[in-house]
Amino acid sequence: MNDGFQLLRTTHPLPAAEREEILAAPGFGRFFTDHMASATWTRETGWHDFRVSALEPIPMHPGAAVLHYAQEIFEGLKAFRHDDGGVWLFRPDLNARRFVNSARRLALPVLPEELFIASVEALVRADEVWVPSYEGGRSLYLRPFMFGSEAFLGVRPAAHVTYGVIASPAASYFSSGLSGVKLWVSENYARAGKGGTGAAKCGGNYASSLAAQVEAQEQGCDQVLYLSDDEERYLEESGTMNLFLVTADGELITPGLGTILDGVTRDSVLELAAEHGLKPTQRQVSLAELREGCASGAITELFASGTAAVINPILGFKGREYEQTVGDGVPGEVTTSMKNHILNIQCGLAPDTRNWLR
Ligand code: PMP
Repeated sequence: MNDGFQLLRTTHPLPAAEREEILAAPGFGRFFTDHMASATWTRETGWHDFRVSALEPIPMHPGAAVLHYAQEIFEGLKAFRHDDGGVWLFRPDLNARRFVNSARRLALPVLPEELFIASVEALVRADEVWVPSYEGGRSLYLRPFMFGSEAFLGVRPAAHVTYGVIASPAASYFSSGLSGVKLWVSENYARAGKGGTGAAKCGGNYASSLAAQVEAQEQGCDQVLYLSDDEERYLEESGTMNLFLVTADGELITPGLGTILDGVTRDSVLELAAEHGLKPTQRQVSLAELREGCASGAITELFASGTAAVINPILGFKGREYEQTVGDGVPGEVTTSMKNHILNIQCGLAPDTRNWLR
């Protein structure tokens, strides 16, 4: 197996002036860089044809497995430009490992972790001019993905699979300050169940979340808070972020793994907790415990963690017959200091004592 991603540089890059205009105000997910990384897998030959080449449409047969049975997985991570011009990835090894786990769950071929990292690095090298200066959190967002591309309508794992990485410059999530969100506690929709795909990062999970997200917005909320499907209604996670609770006696609680995504930011927050004087705990928290804790003041802060926003304060939540403010209804101390700590590591302003940057 050849693990070199051969660079075939595009002959038609976006003119520098247009690129700089995009990088000045990239938004999120709307603009794409000049190149993409790709590789192909077949049952007969395994992985082959590793390359970085011009970003272009992927020709696909209308019978491709992904279009019918959603055999697809993806990842999301960021590259940051430091003040000295250097470009760094944040914990790509964890994304590589999660991609392997997602592939196993969706019966897709495993892409070895070193190939995942090589593909991301090769694309960032080719499109280095697309990594914006940091300025409060700007980055180049990287989106690896893999799908069943075999034209076959039988329901079985595809024998032809396509892997790709695309990149999209991302604005700072905090350009308008650390504003915070309100969550809608969904009772009509569940995200995952035991034995399901909740722990995998597969497209189908997000397709099924859209109706709940629309419901949340109709209720004047920003995101969905998903509950387990058992009687206790334990907290699971938010639409694209993991949940954390801060208690008055110094605990930092997050739901345990199983039916939720094993977030890279979640892991980082747990690792850093002790440095913030907090005791990290992974355990089930029922909706009743959350409501009572916020009402009594035993729970002082609530926040969500994820690659896109790093840390997002949750200022309140709402269900069918209740609405609850968290703490004083403004971003709390732990939330703010944890956000700054991770952002500072990512942009090179705080020491990277754990070798998280690559
Ligand atoms: N949960 C879900 C459902 C997500 O989509 C994400 C975003 N990847 C997260 C949690 C947070 O994970 P991470 O910190 O790795 O971005």
